[in-house]
Amino acid sequence: MDVVDVTIIGAGPVGLFGATMARLHGLSTTVMESLPELGGQLYALYPEKPIYDVAGFYGISGKDLAQQLIEQAQHFSPQLVLGESVQTITPLTLGGELLYEVATPTTRVRSRVILITVGIGAFIPRVLPAERAELFEGHGVYYLMPSLEHFRDRRVLIVGGGDTALDWTLAIAPLAQEVLLVHRRSQFRGQDESIRLIHEAPNVTIKTPFELTRVDGAQEIQAAHLKQVGVDRTEVVPINDIVSGLGFLPSLGPVKNWGLTLAGQSIVVDPSSMATNLQGVYAAGDVAQYPGKVKLIATGFGEIGIAVAQIRSYIDPSKHGLPHSTNLKTIPR
Ligand SMILES: Cc1cc2nc3c(=O)[nH]c(=O)nc-3n(C[C@H](O)[C@H](O)[C@H](O)COP(=O)(O)OP(=O)(O)OC[C@H]3O[C@@H](n4cnc5c(N)ncnc54)[C@H](O)[C@@H]3O)c2cc1C
Repeated sequence: MDVVDVTIIGAGPVGLFGATMARLHGLSTTVMESLPELGGQLYALYPEKPIYDVAGFYGISGKDLAQQLIEQAQHFSPQLVLGESVQTITPLTLGGELLYEVATPTTRVRSRVILITVGIGAFIPRVLPAERAELFEGHGVYYLMPSLEHFRDRRVLIVGGGDTALDWTLAIAPLAQEVLLVHRRSQFRGQDESIRLIHEAPNVTIKTPFELTRVDGAQEIQAAHLKQVGVDRTEVVPINDIVSGLGFLPSLGPVKNWGLTLAGQSIVVDPSSMATNLQGVYAAGDVAQYPGKVKLIATGFGEIGIAVAQIRSYIDPSKHGLPHSTNLKTIPR
C-alpha cells in the first residue's frame, strides 16, 4: 500500500484550503470526506447565503466560495475520497517510521501525517418530530439543502424559529409559489431584520404557534398536518416540500474514539503548531480548540498556514516555515 504524506479528514473550506497548501508545498495529499459533495458547512448548510468576512470577496455565497476553494484545490490534484466517513486512525510503525492507517468502511490509506478538519463533525440533523416525515427524506423532506431551483413554483413548508429557518424562508420565497413558516412558539429567535423582511414578503405565511405533526402523500408529499399549540385544532395544508430549519446536533462521531484530547465537541491543539496530543496528528478549522479561538473561515485558513508549515518540517526536519508561493520554482500539478 502506498504511503501519502498527509491525509486530510473533512473537506469543508478549511480542509479544501489545507489540500491546496499541502500540495503547493510538495506534500502528497489525500482528502477524505463523508458527504458526497465537497464544501462542508458552506455547501451543506448555507449555499445561498452571502459571506462578507472572507478576505478578497464582497458578499460571496457559501456555494460560490466552496466552488472557488474546490477549483483552487483541484489545480493541485490531491487524491479525493468522497462519500466515506473516516471511522478509525490506527498508528503503526513501518521501517522505524510512525504511520497512520486511516480507514473508512471501504477504503484504507497509509499516511505520515493526519490533518483533521472535520468542523462540527457529522451533520446529524435534529429530526422533524412528525409522523411519516422519514418516508420523504431527501425527496420532499430536506435537512441538507438541494439547489434553490428545486423550489421554483412549489409550495414549501419551513419548520423552525431560529436564523436557519428564517434564512431559508428568505432564500426560497423569491422562487417558490408560496412559503409557510411554521414555528411552535409565538416569537422567533432570529435576527430582527430577517423577521421584518419575512413579514414583508408577499408569498410567506407565518403559522405560529403551530407544530408539524404528520406528512401525507405516497410517492410525493401531498399535505402537511399543522396542530395549533395548546388548542385541539389541526389544519391540513397542501404542500410539495418540507425544509427543516431545526439545525444540527454537533457530534464528532467516530473522531471521539481516536485518543485525542477533547474539549466538548472540539479537539485541543497547541495554537503555535496546530498539533494535537497524538504525534503526527494535527487539527484546524472549527474542530480545533485553544484559548481565544474564533470559529470563522478566516481563522481556519490561518490555522492551515501554521499546520502545513509544521507538517512539512515534521516530515522533513531540514525545512522550516513556508516559502512565499511567489518564490516557488515549481508549482505542483
Ligand atoms: C448558517 C451559517 C452561517 C455562517 N456564516 C459565516 C460567515 O459569515 N463567516 C465565517 O467566517 N463563518 C461563517 N460560518 C461558519 C463557517 O461555515 C465555519 O467556520 C466553517 O465552515 C468551518 O470550516 P471547516 O472546514 O472547519 O468545517 P466544516 O465546514 O464543518 O467541514 C467539515 C467537513 O468534515 C466532514 N467530516 C466530518 N466528520 C468526518 C469524518 N469522520 N470523515 C470524513 N469527513 C468528515 C463533514 O462532512 C464536513 O464536510 C457560518 C456557519 C453557518 C452554519
